Amino acid sequence: MPCYDLHSHTYYSDGEMSPLELVTTAVQAGTTHLAITDHDNFDAYLSLQNEDLPEGFTLIPGAEFSTHWFGYEIHVLGLWLDPENDTLKQGVAAQKERRQIRAENIDIKLSELGIIGALADLKIQYPYSLLTRAHFAKWLLDKNYCTHFQQAFDKYLGQDKPAYTGITWPEIEEVINWIHAAGGKAVLAHPLRYPLKTKRIRELIKYFKKVGGDGIEVVTASINLQQMQMLATICDTLDLKASCGADFHGKHMPWIKMGNLLELPKKCKPIWEE
Ligand code: AMP
Ligand code: MN
Ligand code: MN
Ligand code: MN
Repeated sequence: MPCYDLHSHTYYSDGEMSPLELVTTAVQAGTTHLAITDHDNFDAYLSLQNEDLPEGFTLIPGAEFSTHWFGYEIHVLGLWLDPENDTLKQGVAAQKERRQIRAENIDIKLSELGIIGALADLKIQYPYSLLTRAHFAKWLLDKNYCTHFQQAFDKYLGQDKPAYTGITWPEIEEVINWIHAAGGKAVLAHPLRYPLKTKRIRELIKYFKKVGGDGIEVVTASINLQQMQMLATICDTLDLKASCGADFHGKHMPWIKMGNLLELPKKCKPIWEE
């Protein structure tokens, strides 16, 4: 039986594992089709191109792109991407630069608060990573500037907190265009994890469809049956495909486990069937 998990992270972004460790973990959890979707890059996929992967296992090239929609940071997954496509490569290069500049700005803001050395440490600790706020959160936790991971956002890194630095992310439509130029499918990630009311989520999904989005994540690790049914109904109404992905990161985010995802509701058209 094929088993799809189309959302996961390695140490090329804020995941804990190397690409091969992640593949092994996924296979042990029963996954047959895994998309590695690091934030704004697909370097993990490139690093595996000459590796022998387990028999019967399929790796799908992907990425999780940060975008903007009315001031909200919205995550768009690109799946089945051609990593050689020039439009996509240019988009990824721009995203990487935005993240690098923001990491420097976060470091400056932290040092203004008397918290010195985060970026220098992170560059040594995570030589492969495109740095995210999750890296800074883990560093703040390790250095006892906070008592749990979430508190790093509540005290320092979250919106309107003293070390917050915004990024002008591209519009959803632009990112969908990169994904389509590279032959991929564009999926709205974890629709229920944005600070939006249900009505606004519906508007977001409608907008996503209008600007060319292919599907939405109906199943994630933390979703319950009622939420899943609601998203399935929206998919059905708007003729969007459904995706399924845990968003596994590793031990530092223990609330997200690999595997054991709910099955997509029968009325959903899976994003992988075409
Ligand atoms: P970013 O660098 O802003 O894209 O953030 C990367 C990761 O940090 C996200 O994928 C989440 O895992 C985590 N994160 C971002 N914002 C928050 C928040 N307000 N609370 C908890 N975790 C967050
Ligand atoms: Mn993440
Ligand atoms: Mn996300
Ligand atoms: Mn993710």
